[in-house]
Amino acid sequence: MTENIISRNPMTGSILKEIPRAPTSELGEVFRRSARAQADWAKVPVKVRAKKLIQLREVLVRKADSLAETIHLENGKPEFEAYSCEILPALELLTFCASLAPRALKNKSISIRNPFLAYRKSYLNFWPLGTVAVIAPWNYPFFLAFGDIVMAVVAGNSVVFKPSEYTPWVGQRIQELFDEAGFPVDLVQTVQGDGSLGAAIIDHKPAKVFFTGSVRTGKAIMAQAAQYLIPVVLELGGKDAMVILPDSDLDYATSAALWGGFTNSGQVCASTERIIVHDSIADSFIEQLKEKIARVPADNWGAITMDKQKSVYDGQIRDAKDRGMTFYCGGEFNSDRTQLNPTLVGGHGIEETQIYQEETFGPVIAIAKYHTIPEAIQKANGTKYGLLASVIGRDVSLAESVARELQAGTVLVNEVAFSAGLPETPWGGLKDSGFGRKHSEIGMMEFVNVRHINRPRFSFLNMKSIWWFPYTPYQREAFRAWFQLYRASPIDRLKAIPHLLWNLLQLLKREPRI
Ligand code: NAD
Repeated sequence: MTENIISRNPMTGSILKEIPRAPTSELGEVFRRSARAQADWAKVPVKVRAKKLIQLREVLVRKADSLAETIHLENGKPEFEAYSCEILPALELLTFCASLAPRALKNKSISIRNPFLAYRKSYLNFWPLGTVAVIAPWNYPFFLAFGDIVMAVVAGNSVVFKPSEYTPWVGQRIQELFDEAGFPVDLVQTVQGDGSLGAAIIDHKPAKVFFTGSVRTGKAIMAQAAQYLIPVVLELGGKDAMVILPDSDLDYATSAALWGGFTNSGQVCASTERIIVHDSIADSFIEQLKEKIARVPADNWGAITMDKQKSVYDGQIRDAKDRGMTFYCGGEFNSDRTQLNPTLVGGHGIEETQIYQEETFGPVIAIAKYHTIPEAIQKANGTKYGLLASVIGRDVSLAESVARELQAGTVLVNEVAFSAGLPETPWGGLKDSGFGRKHSEIGMMEFVNVRHINRPRFSFLNMKSIWWFPYTPYQREAFRAWFQLYRASPIDRLKAIPHLLWNLLQLLKREPRI
């Protein structure tokens, strides 16, 4: 194995940078330093940690242009997409987390319903997990990793971060941002390497693994983490469906499909990879979408970042051709194989093809037709994935009622993919798309341990509980009377109270607890 990871421009193949690999033998020291940094950081009040995010935001704004350039060069996406889909969501997330953390991580009291136990009180107390691992993909090499690290540190954790081996330079830039914002030394440590380094990280037993990547790696990580009973959050692949209702405005629907399917050249976990369109408008929809594809300026298309993706495209296209599907456009690479031409494919039996069932992670949309709404719902839910879905229609209430039937972590009405950039809302999937949530208050809870504390309300209420030893007749009768408090009729419940109180009194007077 070479000493360095080579960062390449996927458009030209030229070398951008060589970045030293972290030897697995150094991970022990990385984790030791991380634990020391975390122990001090956890003592810093959450309000102060939150303020640090504002300093980080300042650095990010200052570095935005050069960071966008790095993302564009190394990942191949248009520079504008680095601004719109990587940096802006990160600024939003920093702003949101800075105000959320002090609120969300405050102790939360729990009201105890039972009047006989109300002399005690309960509350939830949140505390950091420790050192967590963030293992990231290359498709949104900045925002996905950065967001996890931000949520981890504001919650009081330290982070060992492994960027994708395809975007190590962006990983390095993330480290620089935390360093420049003055976060404590070793609180965030970036280690560069491929999957074998990722696996070695888990052997060092981080408190939790935040993984974003493919289903295959997600399963391997979960199996490995199971050996140590380490919890995992898995943000995995998708095969997102867009349901187009018959009342749709075709111009709107085709524009939504165009961006949803082809932004970042379809290398988006929440890319629109399947369209389920009503048969009354399907032909016009396909024609209009084809025509719009041809109008997208050449420099709006990104490159295929990862070479091995090309064999996935080849396999799925071959399978669709073998099964007699129609390619309305695309289906082949450009001359230097840096891009797959935007592809629309459909036909009778499309639902059985790989291109409809398996994640493509490229500029390909499989189109199925439907006649009734239940049929559309069944087709949309008919894959093993459940990350995101969208419904397009003029009647928003009707579209929303369809949305509520779709098996996905997020369903958007008259929008596509964008809600990963809404930090107030949870992000995550179900079925093979993984589990756990990031962003939002629900996501913040993934980064903390929850401690339930129960105590007497006041010191003078320190008393032995009536269910403690020894087991005695009045104790038994008191509990039998207590059962009557669960009767349906209020009269029966009222009647039970004198008997209960009398037995409790006798118990306290005559049968002291040991
Ligand atoms: P990948 O699974 O190949 O790699 C992801 C990361 O895991 C990389 O850093 C890689 O080095 C590391 N890795 C590989 N093997 C490992 C192992 N055995 N143990 C630990 N780490 C290991 O995925 P990718 O190709 O980088 O990313 C594309 C996939 O990510 C797609 O399936 C996409 O849908 C998914 N994704 C999901 C989301 C989401 O939010 N759900 C977001 C972006 C991407």
